[in-house]
Amino acid sequence: MDEFDLIDKFFTVEMNPRSDIKLGIGDDAAVTVIGADYDLVIATDTIVGDTHFPTETKPHAVGHRCLAVNLSDLAAMGAEPLWCTLVLSLPSGDADWVEAFADGFFELARQFDIVLIGGDTVRGPLAITVAVHGRIKSGGYIKRSGAGHGQGVYVTGDIGASAAGLQCMRDIEHSAQQQKLIRRFLYPVPRVDEGRSLVGLATAMIDISDGLHADVTRMLTASGVGADLDVGQIPLSAELQSTVTKESALLSALTGGDDYELCFTMPIEREGELQALLADWNCQPTRIGRTRVSPGVVWRYNGESYSVPDASFHHF
Ligand code: ADP
Ligand code: MG
Repeated sequence: MDEFDLIDKFFTVEMNPRSDIKLGIGDDAAVTVIGADYDLVIATDTIVGDTHFPTETKPHAVGHRCLAVNLSDLAAMGAEPLWCTLVLSLPSGDADWVEAFADGFFELARQFDIVLIGGDTVRGPLAITVAVHGRIKSGGYIKRSGAGHGQGVYVTGDIGASAAGLQCMRDIEHSAQQQKLIRRFLYPVPRVDEGRSLVGLATAMIDISDGLHADVTRMLTASGVGADLDVGQIPLSAELQSTVTKESALLSALTGGDDYELCFTMPIEREGELQALLADWNCQPTRIGRTRVSPGVVWRYNGESYSVPDASFHHF
């Protein structure tokens, strides 16, 4: 069984459901009621040495990354980050390592105004778990399941650079372009401000952690719609295009993962409102296709049908 089958079979149970849970297992984050005005948005993610990053990765980058991947889940709900906890499992009490890790962690925490309020520190294999708590105006959160038919499908920024960067880390020497790709893997930028600004406009949203194809499919399946998507519209960075072949850049984008960009749907006739938001964005959105009533995600490239290899990452 892969990790999703395990979650469905053993953890997605409706035991003692409470009326203050608005959204439980199955989205980027859970949502609960905390008062009349706001909902609480909660997510947690673990990164493990040699599974999610090479163990020799600079600790500063590991500190950034463990928080970034969690902030990305808050971003995917449109939530405002507030508090987090940090669980560190370390093979040794190496103070230099932990100091650099903490620098990377707090630089990002300060940038997004999220405060560390607890955690746990133990000896064990290198693994870091962060839980993030955020808030959103009551009922304003953006689920994976809200896409309607005939709507645009969009991604933020560019896709595929991070997965290509991870590949480059295996080489001993790196060109300037490869170094840029590696940086994209080491320092993903969570799209928190962009996600928050999409509240009221995006109908469904997910962050791209497992590859564009897997994640857009997850969002549209949850929404009960399908889509016609254009491989040629997937935004690819200059450093990605100059380092690998077009085919391998597209494979990175579709199946690589670790992008931490947002993928969302919204009515195409409201694109004017999206344009108006961009002055405050750190990246551009790109429309990659359109949803339709019949299920299934169909990719086309230069008008021809394009089949995506099943290369996305599964833990089991
Ligand atoms: P994401 O990639 O957005 O972090 P995941 O793929 O890790 O989401 O998880 C999918 C969903 O399953 C999420 O809603 C997550 O909270 C939930 N989930 C994962 N593992 C467990 C578990 N062991 N118990 C309960 N819920 C889980
Ligand atoms: Mg997610």
